[in-house]
Amino acid sequence: MSAGLNQAQQDAVNHLGGPCLVLAGAGSGKTRVITHKIGKLVVAGLEAKRIAAITFTNKAAAEMRERAKALIGRPAKDVLICTFHALGVRLLRQDGAVLGLKQQFSILDTDDITSILKDCGATSDSATARQWQWAISAWKSAGLNAAQALAQAGNDNERHIALLMARYEERLSAYQSVDFDDLISLPLKLLRDHADVRERWQKQMGHVLVDEYQDTNATQYELLKLLVGERARFTAVGDDDQSIYGWRGATLDNLKRLPQDFPELRVIKLEQNYRSTSAILRAANNVIGPNPKLFPKTLWSDLGEGEPVRVVDADHEDHEAERAVARIQSLRANSTHKEFKDFAILYRANHQARPFETALRRAQIPYKVSGGQSFFDRAEIKDLCAWLRLITNNDDDPAFMRAVTTPKRGIGHTTLQSLGNFATQYKLSLFESLFSHSLPSAVSTRAITGLHEFGRYLNDLEHRARHTLGTEAARTFLNDWLKDIGYEKHLYDAEDSEKLAAARWNNVLEFCDWMAGRCGGDVDEATGIAEERKSLLEVVQTIALISTLSDREQDQNVVTLSTLHASKGLEWPHVTLVGVNEGLLPFKLDDNQADASPDSIAQRLQEERRLMYVGITRAQRTLAVSWLKRRKKGRETVPGTPSRFIKEMALDAATSKEDPREKLKALRAEFAQRAQAASSAAAEKP
Ligand code: ATP
Ligand code: MG
Repeated sequence: MSAGLNQAQQDAVNHLGGPCLVLAGAGSGKTRVITHKIGKLVVAGLEAKRIAAITFTNKAAAEMRERAKALIGRPAKDVLICTFHALGVRLLRQDGAVLGLKQQFSILDTDDITSILKDCGATSDSATARQWQWAISAWKSAGLNAAQALAQAGNDNERHIALLMARYEERLSAYQSVDFDDLISLPLKLLRDHADVRERWQKQMGHVLVDEYQDTNATQYELLKLLVGERARFTAVGDDDQSIYGWRGATLDNLKRLPQDFPELRVIKLEQNYRSTSAILRAANNVIGPNPKLFPKTLWSDLGEGEPVRVVDADHEDHEAERAVARIQSLRANSTHKEFKDFAILYRANHQARPFETALRRAQIPYKVSGGQSFFDRAEIKDLCAWLRLITNNDDDPAFMRAVTTPKRGIGHTTLQSLGNFATQYKLSLFESLFSHSLPSAVSTRAITGLHEFGRYLNDLEHRARHTLGTEAARTFLNDWLKDIGYEKHLYDAEDSEKLAAARWNNVLEFCDWMAGRCGGDVDEATGIAEERKSLLEVVQTIALISTLSDREQDQNVVTLSTLHASKGLEWPHVTLVGVNEGLLPFKLDDNQADASPDSIAQRLQEERRLMYVGITRAQRTLAVSWLKRRKKGRETVPGTPSRFIKEMALDAATSKEDPREKLKALRAEFAQRAQAASSAAAEKP
């Protein structure tokens, strides 16, 4: 098991009996320590199901599961490898009843939350509702409830939001629903307030491993502490220089508190970087240099000096995209790493992706946008999820409203309004109200017939879904249901363009396929053993946690377009960082900010610097950094200034500037290669 680990990594892997913190720079093999330690724990005799490894994204979890499987085979399947939020779901499904939460609670998405808040605050302005949502989320991730938020509110606006928060919480509990922050704060409450539950979980958790520890927030840290208890069998790995989620409540204090809270903590530092060339690493170290040092470390690589880091200037966004694509073409002609999946283009914000998509399409280069619009944000998928949520949790009123109106079934706005008033008056969910004896006092007889029909159909669906086990049965169920409700017709009726309707219907089919696949029952080709089958209802409950279908997309041979935030933990042979301008990266530091004090600006600059450091250190072989001489700002075009980070990388000006002659040489080489391929293909024809 020690193969491919240096001495310090082995020390971390072999330290099984107590708390361990691996603190090290980018690409030094922290994630590798976690995967190998899972293997070591299993070999040492700990039951796989008593190991939990917590990752930052679902995608990272899927990748870690694959690696663990390669190391230890079948037992890897039983290790709990997931995000903090998924762990929270597991805790709540198992023990949430203690908090009055039924097992089939729903997890609300951002849109549901915005509309609940609009309703609570009697506004139709989504932007305001989203601001409330941010404020409430920030309080929740700091561990405050509505009463505590009210007590500490510093002005009228905060007091107003704290009062809204109380109403919002009431709604959530009536709907038997939780939001994302609840997935951490409720399990925390559960473990803190209920000794029997806490003890059971502490016994269950033989060892907990946490990747990207620097980006945990205060409540996640408390949850970790309660999970591991006094035995403190855990391994955290992280890098203070890569903490980039401060805006979401992550706090570097968690790193400082660890040695204080666990005096027996073993701290291990890794100094060798196995990912990048010296040229890339030097640029990274130079950029992060000016930040205050929480834990000093020196990172080195013995992969050789490598290609100089290139700086590319572009006249405007489209030009920048053309140049980035030309670079990919030229490297594909000359480098040993020439698969499409060896390339990534990274930027600060999602909206920057568009020109690159256009340029890649024009060049017929396949790509994927990661960290962009989630599959689950598409209207058609949300429609279906609302139905599925409603059959698992009848109290989910937001899901009820969506399902009853999509596709339209002749139940009108007035009927629904009366039903809503009735439900509020009698403190019932919308679904419960359907069959109340007093409903005829509020709704016309004709409307009641329609409502009852809907209710009976839902009951029937729920019954069938509960008994639908495994992939094949799930596929049949989903097909029947879509036919019953006429969803395909609904899409074609709603969409003017047939092509668009077909694309949306395709998404629906892909979604059903994916859902059915997750119900299991397939036979593992390697072992010949069938997976355990799950009921469709069980699978539905995990949907809200999976933000993309990324675990299916991993092996595609395509260029990656990604935000810097979503690139964390990943690596590519060739990386281009784009839009490295003042105002983009670092992001505008003082505009329109509520708090523009010198201290807070300095802190924001530090976080931007860490973000740049994360970007640079994703590159293995070559790195280019490009900036815009003119850039779009809203509707205008303004002159662009190169980011201060480019200067700070302290590149050798003579070698770093990209030479257009090289590009020409590369293109010639590529044409020659293509011509040769074409002529040999022609020669092979009979
Ligand atoms: P990040 O800070 O970006 O999350 P990390 O510290 O988690 O990086 P890994 O992703 O674990 O680093 O490792 C970086 C690369 O180095 C991977 O390709 C990994 O396989 C390789 N690597 C790690 N340790 C070793 C080792 N001892 N020998 C050879 N390769 C290694
Ligand atoms: Mg990592």
